[in-house]
Amino acid sequence: MTSTTRITTPAALEHRTVAVIGYGSQGSAHAKNLRDSGVRVIVGLRPGGPTEAKAKAEGFEVREPAEAVRAADLVAVLVPDMAQPQLYQQQIAPNLKAGACLLFAHGFNVHYGQINPRHDIDVVLVAPKGPGALVRREFEIGRGVPSVYAVHQDQSGEAEAIALAYCAGIGGGRAQPIRTTFKEETETDLFGEQAVLCGGATKLVMAGWETLVEAGYQPEIAYYECLHELKLIVDLLYEGGITQMHRFISETAQYGDLTRGPYVVDEHTRTQMKRVLAEIQDGRFAREWIAEYRAGNPNYRALKQADLEHPIEAVGRKLRAAMPWLQPRGEAPANPPATAASTTASPQAKPAEASA
Ligand code: NAD
Ligand code: MG
Repeated sequence: MTSTTRITTPAALEHRTVAVIGYGSQGSAHAKNLRDSGVRVIVGLRPGGPTEAKAKAEGFEVREPAEAVRAADLVAVLVPDMAQPQLYQQQIAPNLKAGACLLFAHGFNVHYGQINPRHDIDVVLVAPKGPGALVRREFEIGRGVPSVYAVHQDQSGEAEAIALAYCAGIGGGRAQPIRTTFKEETETDLFGEQAVLCGGATKLVMAGWETLVEAGYQPEIAYYECLHELKLIVDLLYEGGITQMHRFISETAQYGDLTRGPYVVDEHTRTQMKRVLAEIQDGRFAREWIAEYRAGNPNYRALKQADLEHPIEAVGRKLRAAMPWLQPRGEAPANPPATAASTTASPQAKPAEASA
């Protein structure tokens, strides 16, 4: 961290010790950004867990979760959502100081009643709208990933100030943070990732690629058309919305977009999107996912394996090898997730390490 990107410690965190529990995608980024913002940070991890050595090597004081919680005025719960209820019950609730602040990066467990926080504490949400690696990278270059924040319980009268200070500390304050609720953040976050960002986008890419390949076109050319070039379009959307995209694509592409896009995203697609949303709103998705996790993720693992073995992946690996600037970044586990039974110590290989 250079002095040019150092920012002054956000006031509400000046005299507070922050325990970041979990050192994965979000945890490692938050811990580093907060430290570079002048905040006193300790990291809470299971001894011998998969990220302990990394946190220590990156200069953090690492303690067992219960001990880190006892020493903290603010506890950021940054372990996977499915691991949080047990962590809260066993390590956090019995050890958290009265009047301390409990912070989440996603509202799932509080919203769906999997965690019912103690009443003598503040409970807030600070959710960066981007993966952890981006939260760190944007911070380092003096920018930030926009964040939303919410207050579930305000025992101290300072909960909003603390949430905003945390937003500022991780760099999310550099874009105007938007106040939300645990309910809105949870439901919109799940909808976005299911219908558009992850589920929608990857299934669209795969279906487009399959359509061309089944019609006899070369798989490599289908890869460029349906996957590789998506980045160009997404970058234009990111920079300047639909307007910017229209400025840069050809007239022919615009006419095709306007007249053929609605063939693909038609009334049926909209009905299915409403179905996705309804299952989030009525808790069906949450119940299904919690039951799946408790059963050891059989369906999740099988579906993920099928995605990883899709022929577009083999084509992509071959083509990307000729583009050495496209190396995976390694912010997410490469393996199927830990299961309820194995969360106590399951090593998670990181793609960057695996491919380095
Ligand atoms: P992750 O999977 O990267 O976290 C892994 C970390 O948690 C590791 O340090 C691991 O050792 C630790 N861990 C796993 N199980 C544990 C257990 N049982 N007890 C103690 N530690 C355990 O998690 P993540 O993707 O950073 O998600 C953390 C939170 O941030 C979640 O609430 C998630 O919804 C939210 N979030 C994530 C993203 C993202 O892009 N990944 C974006 C916004 C919000
Ligand atoms: Mg999410």
